[in-house]
Amino acid sequence: MRLDKYLTECGLGSRSDVKKILKNREIKVNGKIEFSPKLNVSTADEILYKNEMIEYKATRYYIMNKPAGYITATEDKRHKTVMEIFPEWVIQKNLFPVGRLDKDTEGLLLFTNDGPISHELLSPKKHVDKIYYVEAEKNITDEEMKRLELGVDIGGYITKPSKCERVDENKINLTINEGRFHQVKKMLHAVDNCVTYLKRIKFAELELGDMKIGEVREISVEEIL
Ligand code: URA
Repeated sequence: MRLDKYLTECGLGSRSDVKKILKNREIKVNGKIEFSPKLNVSTADEILYKNEMIEYKATRYYIMNKPAGYITATEDKRHKTVMEIFPEWVIQKNLFPVGRLDKDTEGLLLFTNDGPISHELLSPKKHVDKIYYVEAEKNITDEEMKRLELGVDIGGYITKPSKCERVDENKINLTINEGRFHQVKKMLHAVDNCVTYLKRIKFAELELGDMKIGEVREISVEEIL
């Protein structure tokens, strides 16, 4: 494969970004500074950017423990976006979040440049589980938990069956396999309550575990489904 294509697919930037990087003498191939975008390379070659080894990966996956206060978008003129949380070692080119968490919601957010897997995870037909830890203003009764499980009316739409586990009098873990706009908040409203804190703790096979707020980890595709 041509060196410029290889570097683009590694996430170093567009073809023209990569040309500049080559011109700036920032790429070494097998120990030698390389200028030519046309050089033929393969995964067997040792390729360094600013003296750091770069691994060839056409698709990349990262999970983040999103802090509150950031909107889930790749860019926004007025608000801080989740992209600002990434540490410097993550090349953000072509990365996008899979699904959305509200500005005031914390927890597990997946990012990738892999369109097909994102489509699969978000498809309503796939019934991908998401678990939210919910703190509510008022106590949640057993009867209300049953109603949440059976399905509640959130403005003309009846939610699909969910699973509700009690954590405390006003705290539950809610498992849903759909992703309507503000769904969890609307579900709690439907039982005359209000979410005061929301955190996604599981998405597909991915779990937040002991990740710290704002932490980002690179993962493999096999960990997701
Ligand atoms: N449901 C909500 O209400 N908000 C989120 O951020 C995620 C699910």
